[in-house]
Amino acid sequence: MKLICIICPMGCELKIKQEESIKITGHLCPRGKQYALDEITDPKRVYTGNIRLQGGELPVISYKTSTMRKADLDHLKQVSGSLKLSAPIRLGDILYQDDKMTITATRTIERT
Ligand code: SF4
Repeated sequence: MKLICIICPMGCELKIKQEESIKITGHLCPRGKQYALDEITDPKRVYTGNIRLQGGELPVISYKTSTMRKADLDHLKQVSGSLKLSAPIRLGDILYQDDKMTITATRTIERT
């Protein structure tokens, strides 16, 4: 398996062999090895999207999540689809938070 390390602009090509143990090569620093290990055992992502909003100048508010486990994506979909939000919302407002993720507004929406 091959991966491009996205931790820094060097973009090292990581090669991963999984036999009795996991062997990682191609990394120029320890961060790349940790990235590869995370990717094959418990990958994490920052997700973006929109949530419906009542009473605003736009019908949705854009958001981004904290770095969260890819395995919790279904939880994010469930939460973002069920939140009931009302304007005004400010850039940086925390829209939702639990032990798996934080959802933060990425723009300001004024009340109409
Ligand atoms: S392995 Fe290290 S040097 Fe290479 S891209 Fe990843 S962080 Fe950068």
